[in-house]
Amino acid sequence: MGEFDGRKALVTGGASGIGAAIAARLTAGGATVAVLDVNVDGLPEGLVGVRADVTDDASVRAAVASAVDQLGGLDLVINNAGIGAQGGVEDNDDAEWHRVLDVNVVGMVRVTRAALPALRQSDAAAIVNTSSIAATAGLPQRALYSASKGAVLSLTQAMAADLIDEHIRVNAVNPGTADTPWVGRLLDKAPDPAAERAALEARQPHGRLVAADEVAQAVCYLASPAAGSTTGTSIAVDGGMQGL
Ligand code: NAD
Repeated sequence: MGEFDGRKALVTGGASGIGAAIAARLTAGGATVAVLDVNVDGLPEGLVGVRADVTDDASVRAAVASAVDQLGGLDLVINNAGIGAQGGVEDNDDAEWHRVLDVNVVGMVRVTRAALPALRQSDAAAIVNTSSIAATAGLPQRALYSASKGAVLSLTQAMAADLIDEHIRVNAVNPGTADTPWVGRLLDKAPDPAAERAALEARQPHGRLVAADEVAQAVCYLASPAAGSTTGTSIAVDGGMQGL
């Protein structure tokens, strides 16, 4: 018996990295899982792919409706799709601020809005949003990204307050630097990616990158009945970056 037997889950950004690890963990726990992503080609067998860009409300509504239809309902929404941004306040123009906030913050609102009618039919509904340690750690040269992920924490708390009477729990995870294709792409831009990786690992308090599956396990806890009294909060999976 898996802890998610019979449960239906939607994972945004589930085609890569942390989202793919979440989709795999939920599946291993017995859930049937739909992945909403701009890229749903080549998903592992058993996952339902629904293509959408979270910045496009019509495509989100169509994809969520298709997921609910194919899964036969919806219990869990994992709002994980997100993009990065480098630089301080002077380094990104208005268009870039709008672009990143549109994906990282409003994207979660669009998916949640589209999913809520189905979640209200569930007897164990939960939403988990992927924030970042950047929301709270005061990282240099991350103004836009940090602001977007700080907004995710505020949104998580506000949604939890609005939905508690309907027994829909809303929580977040705050990953530290995680070993995903995203970080791989950043490392590949360095003159010596292996040396850059070693330096990045050395900067983590626990001396290594966070595994995507470690984040996935925290997400699964927050999505599970074991977290039935947990809402409006977040779990850091960051090797100690925030706390030490
Ligand atoms: P990734 O790039 O490996 O995966 C992101 C996925 O989101 C991709 O499949 C991509 O196609 C999808 N996506 C991007 N924009 C989209 C859009 N507009 N509509 C639909 N899908 C879209 O990244 P990752 O490292 O797995 O990051 C996943 C989440 O974790 C992000 O929200 C990110 O901010 C957060 N995060 C990552 C790290 C890290 O170090 N990797 C740390 C903290 C937080």
